[in-house]
Amino acid sequence: MSAIEIAAVSKVYAGGVRAVSEVSLSIADGEFIVLVGPSGCGKSTLLRMIAGLETISSGTVTIGSRVVNDIDPAARNIAMVFQNYALYPHMSVYDNLAYGLRNRGVPKADIDARVAEAARMLEIEPFLERKPKQLSGGQRQRVAMGRAIVRKPDAFLFDEPLSNLDAKLRVSMRGEIRQLQRRLGVTSVYVTHDQLEAMTLADRIVVLNGGRVEQVGRPLDVYHSP
Ligand code: ADP
Ligand code: ADP
Repeated sequence: MSAIEIAAVSKVYAGGVRAVSEVSLSIADGEFIVLVGPSGCGKSTLLRMIAGLETISSGTVTIGSRVVNDIDPAARNIAMVFQNYALYPHMSVYDNLAYGLRNRGVPKADIDARVAEAARMLEIEPFLERKPKQLSGGQRQRVAMGRAIVRKPDAFLFDEPLSNLDAKLRVSMRGEIRQLQRRLGVTSVYVTHDQLEAMTLADRIVVLNGGRVEQVGRPLDVYHSP
């Protein structure tokens, strides 16, 4: 059984723009999929439909064994990581990590344990009492990863998470994301326009063009084909 099954999914925006056309894709448990393709090809729209941030015009998205078309984002058990971090500026790093768990009524001892584990993995323990503005860009991106990890999600969805970072940091964070994903074994879908990022991260690359799947393959198959 696939972890995520995308079956003939299309998106037509109000106004008639057909952003995604009949995309089908079976994503295996623990697999790291990278979506690439030119600007406007529908990468972000597809990711947002998996996340539940955008309605699906036709087709179905199944996560685990549940069709999630009509299930709202909070109940999908997925975690998104964005380029703008989406951290709460007035909260400490600890509270940023704990907030969603508190809202869901996770017991305090469990929250403490999950936050501690994520903080250790991401090496952000020294910063737990700081506010986001007291952190560097790389540290903030680690906190954003931490927020995703503590949810214990069925899948990570990444929307160009590294594009605001400088080149050097991008390379090191890329490695960290890949290591972390391998270690946790969480199925991941990652959107980028950076070919090198796609090559390094992906088990399989999906090339979109004009809202359709143009090619699917392992990194060397995709980038070595004529
Ligand atoms: P990508 O992430 O590959 O750059 P997008 O998914 O953002 O592509 O966009 C795909 C197409 O859908 C583009 O033509 C874009 O202009 C259009 N689009 C994206 N968001 C909206 C929206 N909210 N309303 C109408 N059209 C949109
Ligand atoms: P929670 O984490 O319990 O969902 P939040 O207040 O952190 O609560 O988030 C508010 C909304 O934003 C939620 O409905 C949730 O769907 C969404 N959300 C927050 N963080 C993430 C994340 N990392 N990945 C996916 N959705 C998120």
